[in-house]
Amino acid sequence: MTLANYQCDYHMHSTASDGALSPTELLTFAAEQGIRELALTDHDTFAGLQEARAVAADLQIQLLEGMEFSCVWKGMTIHLVALWPEGLSDQAWEVERLQEKARWSRAEKILEKLAKAGIHLTLDEVVAQAGGRVPGRPHFAACLIAGGHVKDQGQAFRKLLGAGKLGDVKNHWLELSDALPLLISAGAFCSLAHPLRYKLTRSKRVRLIEAFAAAGGQGLEAVSGRQDVAQTASLLNLAKVLNLKLSWGSDFHAPGPACPAPGAYANLPSACQPLSQFLA
Ligand code: AMP
Ligand code: MN
Ligand code: MN
Ligand code: MN
Repeated sequence: MTLANYQCDYHMHSTASDGALSPTELLTFAAEQGIRELALTDHDTFAGLQEARAVAADLQIQLLEGMEFSCVWKGMTIHLVALWPEGLSDQAWEVERLQEKARWSRAEKILEKLAKAGIHLTLDEVVAQAGGRVPGRPHFAACLIAGGHVKDQGQAFRKLLGAGKLGDVKNHWLELSDALPLLISAGAFCSLAHPLRYKLTRSKRVRLIEAFAAAGGQGLEAVSGRQDVAQTASLLNLAKVLNLKLSWGSDFHAPGPACPAPGAYANLPSACQPLSQFLA
């Protein structure tokens, strides 16, 4: 099987977290883009999986069930792509409950911090932005735009919500070194998400990937959305040295120019193989 006629994308979001498309719309769009195997990886939730499961077979899509898991390393928010190739275990659902609780308490903390900065949002309006689910930072951004506090999502993150800003509340997440054993004992295959997206020097990025591998991490997102070939080559090299499997994905959130479509990530190294070939 070659990836040329079997396109895979292991990182995508639906309305179950901060994506614009419902799981049905997302899988339909992905199938139109030629995706044959995908992972639905909403932030810290499995809420979209039941619907995704119900449409995957009709669309001839091999679905991997997962979530993008939030944790911290050296005070920085880090994301893991956790996949359950054998389906969701009871422990996986416990992990989800833990993350959901952490997200609700973080939401209250963000509201408090914004209030101290003179910006008064209510939990109800932020939850409404999230379609009734637990809100993430993009839902706070939408409220900040609606209230005229910022002009767009980029500015919301630059001024208030992004790394190091007041809305970047991290103390609710597990440490990377505690999260990985928990996820792995719950049956997950874990990749470090978008290693190039963190604001890190090159040497600190290497230390993050080493810490991830040392704590039991199994895979590296060698390609996330758009990146250049030199970046891919350096990640590939690290994956080899640390014996990490290769994962990849678009990190699709919404149709439009801001975000690569399903499958529209940078060129994959030839060492990439469909994850279904060695998982389960
Ligand atoms: P959360 O998981 O609630 O902490 O929100 C993180 C999400 O916010 C990411 O997955 C992105 O979808 C979005 N995001 C993060 N940083 C930015 C940024 N600088 N500009 C726009 N969106 C961002
Ligand atoms: Mn997101
Ligand atoms: Mn992420
Ligand atoms: Mn993501």
